[in-house]
Parts: sequence; structure tokens; C-alpha cells
Amino acid sequence: MALLQIAEPGQSANPHEHRIGIGIDLGTTNSLVATVRSAQPVVLADDAGHNLLPSVVHYAEDKTIVGYAAKDYLESHPENTIVSVKRFMGRSKADIRFQHPYTLHGNDNQMPSFATAQGDKTPVEISAQILAVLKQRALQSIEHDITGAVITVPAYFDEAQRQATRDAAQLAGLNVLRLLNEPTAAAVAYGLDENSAITEQQNFAIYDLGGGTFDISILKFSQGVFEVLATGGHTALGGDDIDRLLLKHLKQQWQLGDLSNHQHAVLLQLTKQAKEQLTDAEQTDIVFENHQYNLSRAHFATIIQAVTERTLQVSARVLRDAKLSITDIDAVILVGGSTRSPAIQNAVQDYFKKQPLCSINPDEVVALGAAITANQLVGNQNDGHLLLDVTPLSLGLETMGGLVERIISRNTAIPITRRQEFTTYQDGQSAMLIHVVQGERDLVEHCRSLGRFELRGIPPMVAGAARIEVTFQVDADGLLNVSARETTSDVQAHINIKPSYGLSDADTERLLLEGFEFAEQDKHARHLQEVKVEAQRELEALRQVLAKEQVDLLADDSQALQHAMQALSQTLQGDDLTAIENAVQDLKIHSDELAAKRMNHHINQALKGTKVDDWASFSQNKE
Ligand code: ADP
Ligand code: MG
Repeated sequence: MALLQIAEPGQSANPHEHRIGIGIDLGTTNSLVATVRSAQPVVLADDAGHNLLPSVVHYAEDKTIVGYAAKDYLESHPENTIVSVKRFMGRSKADIRFQHPYTLHGNDNQMPSFATAQGDKTPVEISAQILAVLKQRALQSIEHDITGAVITVPAYFDEAQRQATRDAAQLAGLNVLRLLNEPTAAAVAYGLDENSAITEQQNFAIYDLGGGTFDISILKFSQGVFEVLATGGHTALGGDDIDRLLLKHLKQQWQLGDLSNHQHAVLLQLTKQAKEQLTDAEQTDIVFENHQYNLSRAHFATIIQAVTERTLQVSARVLRDAKLSITDIDAVILVGGSTRSPAIQNAVQDYFKKQPLCSINPDEVVALGAAITANQLVGNQNDGHLLLDVTPLSLGLETMGGLVERIISRNTAIPITRRQEFTTYQDGQSAMLIHVVQGERDLVEHCRSLGRFELRGIPPMVAGAARIEVTFQVDADGLLNVSARETTSDVQAHINIKPSYGLSDADTERLLLEGFEFAEQDKHARHLQEVKVEAQRELEALRQVLAKEQVDLLADDSQALQHAMQALSQTLQGDDLTAIENAVQDLKIHSDELAAKRMNHHINQALKGTKVDDWASFSQNKE
């Protein structure tokens, strides 16, 4: 056969220049940027040493302020100081049913704009402001160009919300390597993907309690790929609610009546402080005006019980959705600043009957996981266990007879490199057309053509002697590079293709379904084509031998052979598989006879000192 399979999956052989990837956690309350330095993921701090950047943007008439400094305007300029913009990303005005202090412009079915002192600002623009500050921070700290960024999004984010996040990153001048689910990033930070040797499935619960949102996701890890089995949460449940519960409790204890806005803000700040102090201390004193209150950890836990219980109810529902029970969970990861509270950690541990992982700072863990992924995606780590994305459709190339030779099957984890060897069809063939296709069907005409290129300058050889190594390489962005190399002469050619370019989800779906639907029909078509190609090849080889050997064409046996050849040529015009197979059988009888006779003749010649090379190579090719 013309195809010799050598396939050796391996990693990219191309040496890379120094490439920098950053990971960004674009959070509702806080955002962070991280990178991998000397093989360690690290969060990058600002000049003042802050790791977190509050996700707050203040629009003054003459300037835009982001982060801690923007928070100072929350009380005085609430309309111009945007907090929690993440809640607005990819949402239409009609979707926004929660309370907020902003004036929104735009149609009901569009993403709204915020009316600010600098005019209308979309959620995408506001998020881009936050991202731009993080990018600047990274540039300053790394002192090197940034190749690309991995940005995390909640697992429940839909296409519109993801697209809005991508748009924001683009606007901030970031090259998005990938959007990564926040729970997946947390699992990567804990290295839970490094046990890829384990073949059985592992399940992880990622419990994320942030400032204003709660998310719980159940991830399945199997064969190097994370899959979100179920996700759920509450868009208004988080640290802010804990602060509110504590404030309410204090007001009751101190029998405070209505507070002024300023008093309320001060007390809220105090409760937040007390909450955070109880993370390290057994008790704390809260002093407000002429009141004082001593709060213990245990008491704090009972005050915020409503929040913890609510999160565990959601957890139970998500576990049910994933069709798993608590005992199926191999590890629980704590994410989000609020899980630093021992009160929360204990509640989670009691519920899952397992000590949760919290050795990595829970408000940094997502950014750190994103940094690790970014580092792998830019190609700095070639140990091959970053297997988070898969090819949606199979990739292959056209072989003789319009058939598809599949090189990379669909659902193969990327990045991936596959190599396969091909050979020439005709004697003296000096060029080869490499036609790259995508799809699940067996015939080229039913697949999607991705591109063509030619490999020229193949040294003349008999059919089947040239060795052409074709390499398909899909990088982490899904970009396909196909190269071809003739190994004896080292002539090369290649092409870069973006397989998903112009391919909608609906197209992908259709190509996939067709693959299943026509599987039987394709099997037949492939077999027919293969038989035809092989018959053509045999006919061609025979013709050449007859021409070369100066066979006595009038001899009976050679006339019968020529008849059989003509009969086969005839049937090859049609698609009658049985007729073709019969004609091939018939021809074989005559060609074998002739071959035996010729062989004897050649051996006799050889004994007289004549070479047998030609005939021998012909016989081999018939195998
Ligand atoms: P998000 O993911 O929503 O952007 P974060 O993960 O940064 O939010 O969490 C912010 C929340 O974490 C705030 O409510 C903050 O009060 C809370 N938090 C931060 N540090 C602590 C701590 N030491 N103990 C308890 N809560 C904390
Ligand atoms: Mg978060």
C-alpha cells in the first residue's frame, strides 16, 4: 500500500524564543495578574505592594482612576464609580434585574452603557480599563513584552459573557491565549492535572465564595482533560452579605436606630475588619462611637450561619446535578477571599467530610492557575500535561482517489503533533499536492477544505520509494501547521491554517452529525476508492513493465494479459465494486503467469551477468 504509518505523537520540536504568558483573574470584587517566574507562579504586585486590584473604576471628568484609589469615590460619587462591572458583562439591559446605583443607557436587548462624567461607558470598556492597569503592572514588573494572557471566567459564563470578556481584553491590547474557567484554574494551581497517569476518573469540588458571588463547580478529570460536570451558585451571596449580617447583629446589640450614610459606611468598614481579623485571631474587639463589642470566632460563625447554610444547599444541588455523592469527591478546593474565614472552612469540611485544600491563598489561586496555563500555552513547558482543550473535528489530508487520511482525530487534546509518512504514486513523481481537510467523512468532497500546498523538488524515484513525512501540529490556540518533508533530499514545504476560522458552532455540529449519519455509506465509498486506486496503480505498473521489457505482445499469454488489463480499465470507469474486484482477480492470474515466466527469464539473464533490479522492484511494489 502507498501509506506507511510511522506516526509518533510528540511535542513541538521547534525551539522557542523567550515567551511570556500572564494569567488574569478578572473578578467581581478584585482582580489580579500573575506569571510564572523560575518555574513558580507568582502574583504581581503594584508599586505599593498590593497583590489585589479592586475591580472599581472611577470616571472623573478629566481622569480615570482604577483600584484602591477609585474606592475612595464610592461614597461621594457612586454614579461615576463603577463596582462589580462583571455582573453586567455580556448582559442585555433587560437581563439586569439586580439593584445598582447607575443610570444605564441603551436598548433593552443590548449590552447597556453606564452614564458617567466621561459620557457613556460600556461594561466592555470598563473591564478593559481594569485589564489595562493589570497589563501595565505586568509589563513594569516583567520588563519584557507579553506574548499572551489567559483570562479566567466563571464556569457558568455563556458565549455572550465570554465574548464580552474577550472583547475587553482585546481593547486593553492583550492577546488572549484562552479563556479559562475559574474552577479549572484553581484545580491547575493545585496541580490536580498532574496526575494524568491515573486513568480512572477523579472528581473535584471547587467552592468559591468571593465578595458578592458564590460559585460551586464539580470538575471531572480524566485522561488529562477537565470537564465541568455541573456548576451552580448565587449571584448575590458572598463576603458582602457576611459583612451585612454582622452589621445587623451589632445594630441589634447596641440598639442603634437609623444610621446616617456616613455612620453606615464606617460601621460596615469596621465589620469587614473584624471579620478579617477573626481569620487569624480567636477574638476581636469592635469599637464604634461609644460602643464596644467583643466577638469570638465561634460566635461569628453562628451570626453568619445563614450564608454558610445557603452555600451548602447550593452545593448539594450541584452535586445532585453532577449525579455524584459526597463520597465521589476526591478533593475540595477553597477559592475566594471569604473562604479564608475558619467559619467557612469548617462548614465546608463538615459538609464534604474532607479537609478542603486551602494551602494556596484563596483569593490568588485562580490567577496562579491562569498563569501556569498561560506559561504552558506560550510553549515554555513541554512536559505535555496541559490537556485542557480538544480539537472539535478531525484533521487529515487527501490521498489518492479523493480519500481522507485522518491524522488527528476529533477530541484530541491540544497542543498536539502527529507525523505520518506518505509516498509517491507514480514513478519519477517530482511534486506532491498536500490538501488539508477537516471533518468526519471519508471522502474529501464531504469534508471542509482548509488549504492546499505543494511539495516540489522530490528527486525522481520509482513509485513508493520516496519517503514524505507529513507533520500536523496544532498549537494551544488551535492553530494548525502542516509541513511536508521528503526525507532523503530534505526538500520541505508548509502551511499555517486556523481550523476554526469561519467555522460556526452550527457548522461544527453539522460536520459531526454527518460523520455519524453517513458512516456506513462512507465505509463503502472508501473501500471502493481504495480498490480503484490500487487497481489503477497495478495497471500503471504493468504498462510500464510491458513497455520496458519488450514483451512479445503477440504471444498468447501476453494477449490474454492485455485483454484482462483492458477489461479492468473498463470496469474502473464505473462504480461497480464486484465487477472491479472480479476484473482485478482475472488480471492477477495473467500477470502472475507473466511475472513467473519473466522472472525465470531474468534469473537466467542474471546468471549471465544482467541486472534484475527493475523487475525485483516491480514485484515488491505489487505487495
Ligand atoms: P471576587 O472573586 O468576588 O472578586 P475575592 O475572592 O477577592 O472576590 O473576595 C473578596 C471577599 O473576600 C471580600 O468580601 C473580603 O471581605 C473577603 N475577605 C478578604 N480577606 C478575608 C479574610 N481574611 N477573612 C474573611 N474574608 C476575607
Ligand atoms: Mg473570584
